[in-house]
Amino acid sequence: MKLICIGRNYTDHIKELENEKPTDPVVFLKPDTSILLKKQPFFIPDFSDDVHHEVEILIKINRVGKHISKKFAHKYYDDIGLGIDFTARDLQAQLKAKGLPWEKAKAFDGAAVIGDWLPKKNFEDLNNLNFSLKKNDELVQNGNTSLMLWKIDEIIEYVSKYFTLKIGDIIFTGTPAGVGRVIANDRLKGFIEDKQLFSITVK
Ligand code: MG
Repeated sequence: MKLICIGRNYTDHIKELENEKPTDPVVFLKPDTSILLKKQPFFIPDFSDDVHHEVEILIKINRVGKHISKKFAHKYYDDIGLGIDFTARDLQAQLKAKGLPWEKAKAFDGAAVIGDWLPKKNFEDLNNLNFSLKKNDELVQNGNTSLMLWKIDEIIEYVSKYFTLKIGDIIFTGTPAGVGRVIANDRLKGFIEDKQLFSITVK
């Protein structure tokens, strides 16, 4: 399985990193080895002094598809989740400056947190979901899917032009503003609406 990640999908986050607003979605992949195992702490890798949390809404693909039009995209997922796209920001900045791929900064072991899943039928409107991240019980990121530049079904249409989607693939849909550094002993808790979907410790 693969993790397909969208970057720069919220205007307020594009501003905070002083990135250009993209004309097409920014897409990158993480391997399955980047998934943080359940109930394990996240270990800050020794090659970074500036690992950031990026809380993101996740989509779990439930059937095989290629060239999916956005009209039919809703048939390709039943579950919505929440995760973290951990990013070694210092390393990413070096790679970006040289025009190099981001994998070393984004795809390392443990860099993908995947929380519990919720049936999408629990929600009236997936394009109006509140989600948030608390660090040590303080609210640090707060988003709403209505603010995505590319909505869930548009993301599926776009990425399936390039990659065959397979059962179990997961899409990370981008982070809102408020990304920041994590340090040892931080505790991160993620929520969709009032429901807590993960709690992890940083080491
Ligand atoms: Mg991200």
